[in-house]
Amino acid sequence: VTTTGRDAALRERARQVIPGGLWGHLNAANLPSGYPQYYARAKGCRLWDVDGREFVDFMSSWGPIVLGHHHPLVEEAARRQAELGDCMNGPGPVLVELAERLVGTIPHADWCLLAKNGTDATTACVTIARAGTGRRKVLVARGSYHGAVPWCSPSIAGVTAEDRAHLIFYDYNDIASVEAAVAKAGDDLAAILVTAFRHDMARALELPDVAFARSLRALCDHAGAALIVDDVRAGFRLDMGGSWETVGVRPDLAAYSKAIANGHPLAAVTGAEWLRQPATKVYTTGSFWCGAVPMAAAVATLDELRRIDGPARMKAMGERLRAGWAAGAARHGVAVRQTGPAQMPLMLFEGDVGFRLGDAFCAAALAAGAYFHPRHNMFLNCAHTESDVDRALQASDAGFAAVARLG
Ligand code: PMP
Repeated sequence: VTTTGRDAALRERARQVIPGGLWGHLNAANLPSGYPQYYARAKGCRLWDVDGREFVDFMSSWGPIVLGHHHPLVEEAARRQAELGDCMNGPGPVLVELAERLVGTIPHADWCLLAKNGTDATTACVTIARAGTGRRKVLVARGSYHGAVPWCSPSIAGVTAEDRAHLIFYDYNDIASVEAAVAKAGDDLAAILVTAFRHDMARALELPDVAFARSLRALCDHAGAALIVDDVRAGFRLDMGGSWETVGVRPDLAAYSKAIANGHPLAAVTGAEWLRQPATKVYTTGSFWCGAVPMAAAVATLDELRRIDGPARMKAMGERLRAGWAAGAARHGVAVRQTGPAQMPLMLFEGDVGFRLGDAFCAAALAAGAYFHPRHNMFLNCAHTESDVDRALQASDAGFAAVARLG
């Protein structure tokens, strides 16, 4: 399968005026051939590319779409606010309404700040922790993604050693490695930063062990350091109160973005009381950070997610997808490994050197109408129904057949 017509023409024009055709994670050059780069529209759990192909979407814009694309309640709230004002000389009343929602919904939160991107939120968490402790060292899990600025970017291009001078690395779910990193930080430990679960690209996903989560909490308490949960990717998909409610551990700071406003640009930092004063001293701002439209979208998104118990709904549909994949793989005699929370699943093929099998599965499933990802966790959204999942499972059958032919 190759992309044709309008998509190919747009890519060609983009190559002239945009470095590499597109920056970042949404560049379709990183996907098997046949994946579109440009989209005409999206609704519910369906996407239409510029060449008119329709897909059942299991990436949900890589996380932001949690209720479904172009959700009517969210878009109506955004439209109403847009008619009143968006980027003004200060926020609209909706800021206070949203902040009260977040502090009321997230048990560890005594206050919150808003921003635009996940990177803004993780960076603010680290800065607030340093301001609150007067210390420099931050523990980060090897391979975890926290954003696209020099202190945390997965690329080293344009990054100096000084940008990362005060990071100390540990291994996710490995308590001994955290203890060694804490010892290395000595009396200079500002924070331990951890993602909601281990969701590094191109490897099996890992949920946090309860003992690991508790040990991070205890180590931070002992050192007077801040425990930061980077919930940018998983927030509001696993638990409305923050993803570590699932393991019974509450952070001092948490970063949210992606799903908070169903696709509208917004991020949040939530924090504990002892970091309220330091948060007033750190200079966090941006030209668009008080925009009222995304905040109105966020209030509508959070209210609807709570009303329908979004996390449970996505979990049920994710489990249906998973069970169908397990049955399909068995039918075709293909060995798969499924990992991660059901709302954010990943399926890898056993012995899949270079993702040859995963790419073949995804390319064939795409041609049959389902949009999956071979290496990155996928994202269910609340618009997925049983019949959408079943439709995607039919498409998956073409994928398993393609893998069986290669195997
Ligand atoms: N942290 C995590 C865990 C993420 O998944 C992401 C985005 N993929 C970020 C931070 C950065 O968010 P953003 O791209 O919105 O800056």
